[in-house]
Amino acid sequence: MDTIYTTLKKFGKVKLNEPMSKHTTFKLGGPAKYFITIDKNEKLVEVLNFLREENVEYVILGGGSNVLCTDKELDGVVIKIASSEIKQLENNILQVDAGCITVAVARESVRLGLTGFEWGIGVPGTIGGAVRGNAGAMGGDMKGNIERVEVYRQGEILELTNEECGFAYRESIFKLNNDVILRVWLKLEKSSEESKDLMKKALENIQYRNSTQPQGFASSGCIFKNVIVNLPAGQAGSQKPKAKSQDIPQEFLDKGVISAGWLVDNAGCKGLQIGKAQVSEKHANFIVNLGGATAEDVKNLIDEVKEKVYNKFKINLETEVQEIVF
Ligand SMILES: Cc1cc2nc3c(=O)[nH]c(=O)nc-3n(C[C@H](O)[C@H](O)[C@H](O)COP(=O)(O)OP(=O)(O)OC[C@H]3O[C@@H](n4cnc5c(N)ncnc54)[C@H](O)[C@@H]3O)c2cc1C
Repeated sequence: MDTIYTTLKKFGKVKLNEPMSKHTTFKLGGPAKYFITIDKNEKLVEVLNFLREENVEYVILGGGSNVLCTDKELDGVVIKIASSEIKQLENNILQVDAGCITVAVARESVRLGLTGFEWGIGVPGTIGGAVRGNAGAMGGDMKGNIERVEVYRQGEILELTNEECGFAYRESIFKLNNDVILRVWLKLEKSSEESKDLMKKALENIQYRNSTQPQGFASSGCIFKNVIVNLPAGQAGSQKPKAKSQDIPQEFLDKGVISAGWLVDNAGCKGLQIGKAQVSEKHANFIVNLGGATAEDVKNLIDEVKEKVYNKFKINLETEVQEIVF
């Protein structure tokens, strides 16, 4: 009898050889030997303790909207976090489980007459995934909203302050360690506007944004990070473009951020295709699955785009999407 399977069943719903393509917005990824969905934080901690004691490899999945999952078998446990409690506390603080859907949290915050997290209405996936990648949109990001984060770290449960999370553009310490985010506290403000007006404004912004993005294709959102160019020398994330300055619009240099989509487009990559993966014709920072793409197709396309951008601008693009392999 498979003891991992029988033990896992005590903590949540378990599937064997579950195709990851069913759980990623890219609709990519081979089978996970064990796939467990957990909807309570207490169970999540128990399963993490069990896997740690038994030395079993695992990977965490939220909404699967920022991952590129290998086509090969994942020979371990995929833990899908589906905890979903949202509580309003005093002082306009929302306590949110890591598995809560970001869009739902944003909608709930607006419903409660709170402002500051409307930008989340446009971001797929879970709050845990959003914290790990310091997700952001329309001028907001998790760094701007987080008061505290509760994590599981090597058998212990800790609370980290915003500063301790090491947030930077699409970065946090959680990309560098194996912490599992369990719960977060968002610091919001009481809105002077009616909920329905707040919601109307947020939806208008999202509609505009969506009109610039490819619709109807599986993707993982933006593939590459925008390029930061004005940090002090040596600070992580900063690059000095070596291309002639007239090659890059002055407005990007003035802002200190070069749009990755602009670089990809101007390196001639729009529409570039490998297998069934294609650089979107509509938004050059999206790679879309035309149907039947493999993770290998996407990886090869990423490499080709990076090379073309480097050859033209001498800039190394970094990927925003997280690779899942064991
Ligand atoms: C159409 C589309 C539009 C998008 N627009 C935006 C946008 O505007 N702004 C933006 O920032 N992003 C955007 N994204 C990317 C994505 O939605 C965000 O990065 C999102 O926050 C990822 O959350 P997730 O739960 O899906 O993470 P997943 O894809 O499930 O996981 C991403 C990484 O986080 C880890 N992880 C997930 N949950 C936890 C946890 N609880 N503890 C520890 N690690 C965890 C995973 O192991 C993985 O390494 C977009 C994606 C799509 C498909």
